[in-house]
Amino acid sequence: MKRIVVVGGGFGGAFGALWTAKRLRAGEAEVTLVARENYLFFTPFCTEIVGGAMEVRHATAPIREMLAGRAKFVEADVVRIDVAAKRVETTVGALEYDHLVIALGSLTGTFNLPGVAQNAWFMRTLPEAIAYRNRMIDCLEEASRMPAGPDRAARLTFAIAGAGPTGVELACDLSDFLDGLLRKQYPDLAPREAKVMMIEGSERVLSAMDEKLSRYAEKRMKGKGIEIRVKTRIKGYDGVSIDLSEGPAVRCDTLAWTAGLAPNPVVAALDLPKDKGGRLELDEFLRVKGHDNLWALGDCASFVQNGKPLGPEGQVAWQEAARLSKNLPAALRGRPMKAFRFRRLGRLVSLGRRYAVSEFFGMRFWGFPAWWLWRTTYLFKLPGLRNKLRVMLDWTLDLFFPRETVRIRYSGERKPPAP
Ligand SMILES: Cc1cc2nc3c(=O)[nH]c(=O)nc-3n(C[C@H](O)[C@H](O)[C@H](O)COP(=O)(O)OP(=O)(O)OC[C@H]3O[C@@H](n4cnc5c(N)ncnc54)[C@H](O)[C@@H]3O)c2cc1C
Repeated sequence: MKRIVVVGGGFGGAFGALWTAKRLRAGEAEVTLVARENYLFFTPFCTEIVGGAMEVRHATAPIREMLAGRAKFVEADVVRIDVAAKRVETTVGALEYDHLVIALGSLTGTFNLPGVAQNAWFMRTLPEAIAYRNRMIDCLEEASRMPAGPDRAARLTFAIAGAGPTGVELACDLSDFLDGLLRKQYPDLAPREAKVMMIEGSERVLSAMDEKLSRYAEKRMKGKGIEIRVKTRIKGYDGVSIDLSEGPAVRCDTLAWTAGLAPNPVVAALDLPKDKGGRLELDEFLRVKGHDNLWALGDCASFVQNGKPLGPEGQVAWQEAARLSKNLPAALRGRPMKAFRFRRLGRLVSLGRRYAVSEFFGMRFWGFPAWWLWRTTYLFKLPGLRNKLRVMLDWTLDLFFPRETVRIRYSGERKPPAP
C-alpha cells in the first residue's frame, strides 16, 4: 500500500485529504493527515467571532468527523520535512511517505516593521481571534473605570492595519459590536466614544475589487463612524502609538494587523523551488516543480495562471484540493493527469449587519442582496449540517438580541507569538 501524507488541516489539507481518500480504491493507498489542531477553522467567520455574532466552535469543523475514518488523523506539529528520506518529522514521531501533500498555509507577515510583531494583534487563527476579542472587552472594562482624557481615548481606539477583505470585515463587525454595547451596556462611556480606525497604504479600501464597490464600502464604513486613512503606511508600533508615513503618530492601545503574509517556517526551511514570497512553485498538475511525489496546495503554494501567481484565498485552496483528489490517484495508477485551472467564483466582503459588497460570476452586488449572497454562500460552504444549523441560529438570534460581552479567559492565554 502506498502512503500518502498530507500536512496541514486547513482548507487545502483537510479537503485534499478527505476528497483524495474518497477517490482511492480499497487497498490502493493509505492517507494520513497531520495537523496542529483537530479542527478546520472556517476563516471567513473569523471577524464574526470577534464581533460576537457567532459562537466560537460554530466556525470550526472537527477533522476526525470530516474524515469519518476514510483517512488517518495525527494531531501534531510538523517540525521538519526530509525530502531526501521521504519523511515528515512531527512532535509525536516521524512518518514515512510515498507521496507528500504540503498544505501548511502561511503566517502573518509584518515586513519587519519595528514593534509590530511584538505589539500588534493578529487575525489568522481561532486563538488569535479569541485573544483579540478578549483584549477588546478588556479595553472597554478598563476605559469605563478611567477618567476622560487622552489615556482613555487611546484605550478606546481600535486601529486596523490593512483595508483588504479581512481588515474591512473586521472594522465593520467591530464597529457594530462597539456601537451596540456602548449605547446600552457601558453607561460610563459615551455612545460614540470608541473609535475604529482603518489604515491602508494604497489609494482605496478593497483595492482588489471593482472601484464602484470599493467606494460603496468606504461610504458605508464612514457612515458607521469608521475613520479611514488611505495612502498612509504604518512605520512602526510600540504598543502605545502608531508611527505613520503621513501625519503625526496616533495614540492607540490596540492595533489589529491584517496586512501581510509570511511563509510557514517548515516550508521556509525546505530547499525546493519557491517564488519571491517563499511559496512553493507548482507545475500544471499541482506538484512541486521537479518532484513527482511532492504536491502543494493553498497559501504555501504558488500556482501561476495567465502569467500571475494565484492569491492566498480559500477558494484557490478548495479548488486545488479538488484537482489534487483526481490527480494524485491518477499518478498512483500511472494514468494521465489534468492540468489545474482556477475559476474565480467571486469575491464577497461583509460590511457588517445587512450590508456587503460582492462580485459574483462577473456580476456586481452591494447592500442587502450582497449581504444575503455572502451569508448564503458561506453557509453553503461550511462543512456539516450541524454547523450550518448552528450558524443559522446564531445569525437569527443576532437579529433580535444584543451582542454578548462574555469574555472567557483561558489559563494559558497569551498574545500570539510573533512570526
Ligand atoms: C481572517 C481571514 C478571513 C479570510 N476570509 C476569506 C474569505 O472570506 N474567502 C476566501 O476565499 N479566503 C479567505 N481567507 C483566506 C483563506 O483562509 C486562506 O487562503 C486559506 O485558509 C488557505 O488554506 P490553506 O489550507 O493553504 O491554509 P490554512 O487554512 O491556513 O491551513 C493551514 C493549516 O496548517 C496547519 N499548520 C501550520 N503549520 C503547521 C505545523 N508546523 N504543523 C502542523 N500543522 C500546521 C494550521 O494549523 C492549519 O490547519 C481568509 C483568511 C483569514 C485569515
